[in-house]
Amino acid sequence: MAAYHYVLGEFGALNLENVVVLIRAADSVAAPQPRSELAVLSPFQQGKGALGTGMVPIKLSANESHFGPSPHAIAAYHAAAANLFRYPDGTQTALREAIASTFAIDADHIVCGNGSDELLQLLVRAYVRAGDEVVFSRYSFAMAMVHATAAGAQLVIAEEPQWRPDTDQLLAAVTPQTRLMFLASPNNPVGQYLSRSELLRLHAGLRPDVLLVLDGAYADYVTAEDFDAGHRLVTEADNVVVTRTFSKLYGLAGLRIGWAHAPAGVIDAVQRIRTPFNASGPAMAAATAAVLDHTHTQFVRASNARALQRLQDGVATRLAGVAFVPSAANFYLLRFIDGTHTAHGAAAALEGAGIIPRPVGASGPEGCLRITVGLEHENEAVLRVLAGYLAR
Ligand SMILES: *Cc1c(COP(=O)(O)O)cnc(C)c1O
Repeated sequence: MAAYHYVLGEFGALNLENVVVLIRAADSVAAPQPRSELAVLSPFQQGKGALGTGMVPIKLSANESHFGPSPHAIAAYHAAAANLFRYPDGTQTALREAIASTFAIDADHIVCGNGSDELLQLLVRAYVRAGDEVVFSRYSFAMAMVHATAAGAQLVIAEEPQWRPDTDQLLAAVTPQTRLMFLASPNNPVGQYLSRSELLRLHAGLRPDVLLVLDGAYADYVTAEDFDAGHRLVTEADNVVVTRTFSKLYGLAGLRIGWAHAPAGVIDAVQRIRTPFNASGPAMAAATAAVLDHTHTQFVRASNARALQRLQDGVATRLAGVAFVPSAANFYLLRFIDGTHTAHGAAAALEGAGIIPRPVGASGPEGCLRITVGLEHENEAVLRVLAGYLAR
């Protein structure tokens, strides 16, 4: 039998006859199989972006900022075009320092990612072993549940009976197998947050080896005095992480950039598995300018709060049979309570008028429709169309 040996540098020899045998054997077995944990997952369904009518819709389905990003962020993005041939700064220094100065936290305790979604995934990869339990507050981020499922974790859902993260429910969900706890504050799709005293009570009741991950995607919008995004706790405890994003208030969803504020041990773990260029150069340049433009941040925050108040008043005076669920974020839930009209019917009426809301289905309270705060004329259009639907 002729044997063909190909020398592969230092790595040994390849016997071509054996390779042929292997290829034949592979022909007759099943296709490559992904890990069994993936079987229960399905691809993420993005909020609808078009209606198929050719009409340019008013898209109120994805909690994007209709005020857009800071003009300085757009200018920085354009300027970054001159450096597209370069790798980004893998140490993320300029952005981390801009965030640190804005939020009065330590730049060494910040890591940036391809959206906060990636940081949640990195935290799961770093801390969750197959078979561990991960506690999720009922209305937290669906993608974090996907990451934990893919890691082979057992998901434990803590209910939110008042539609806001509930300290007692969260603590009751903890077992000796719990490794991580995720909650969004404000939550999604309701927009309700955990107060500072409740956050401290939650943390005090948690074992120090359970990592508490606070998803602050909407924290930038909150104007209430008793809100606490958790940054102080991060500096005082070893088991608290806050994730934030540029996708919402900063209007940079298309760039995919977010950050986490974490204790030294967590930063160290994430840095060991983070790909060095997970945050792109143009994204970091735009985000750096955005986070330093405090005028724009305050303008968007104040405009959103005013718009929410106007919407709440508009629902109260013009939409009988609809309850406006109070929100601290850039979206609101409408609850259809007259027994005749439904969230489903309202969504159809809005879409018929070129407005795309986000039906919450099983991922939110029953009978509700989530709508992003838009510009004034867009919010007015929502009220007008819904008044017409309710009159039918
Ligand atoms: C939008 C959103 C995020 C942000 O995701 P990015 O990956 O940063 O765009 C995180 N959590 C919640 C609850 C959200 O709604």
